[in-house]
Amino acid sequence: MGHTVKLLGNPILRAQCRPVHESDADSARDVASQLRSTLYAVRRELGFGRGIAAPQIGSDLQVVFVHVDEPMVLINPRIEDRSCDMIELWDDCLSLAPLLVWVQRHRAITVRYRDLEGRRATLRAEGDMSELLQHEIDHLHGTLIIDRAHGDNAIWLREEWEYRAGENDV
Ligand SMILES: [Zn+2]
Repeated sequence: MGHTVKLLGNPILRAQCRPVHESDADSARDVASQLRSTLYAVRRELGFGRGIAAPQIGSDLQVVFVHVDEPMVLINPRIEDRSCDMIELWDDCLSLAPLLVWVQRHRAITVRYRDLEGRRATLRAEGDMSELLQHEIDHLHGTLIIDRAHGDNAIWLREEWEYRAGENDV
């Protein structure tokens, strides 16, 4: 099977993913390993991508794979706590790679999840990791960055964004 990322318009990207139960442990492991190989493959191809969620490879299980400083699998992740303090940034997504979207995210969050061995874990994430996890957890609930577009003219084609950014450098 190739490394194909499901693209905007595919209904799986709008699905509510279901929690991984004990009986799904094998499937969750398969999904996690596919997520990892797919992320690394598309990252080589596109030059970006720090995280990927199950619907993006066609699975409706609550599994996320991220790689910021190190690879990490989160099963059934839940955001327990969100800072009132917000950050704004250009976000992108492997499922709609030609687009850049200006979004608002919580600066810090606390996430509860299970690891691949089923152990409970809690993660306090800030900055890059915080906005990344909010992005990936959104995927598990059928929410995409275009739904988070913040302010006027918040959805750009990457090509136009790069053209403008180049202009501002001069
Ligand atoms: Zn995404």
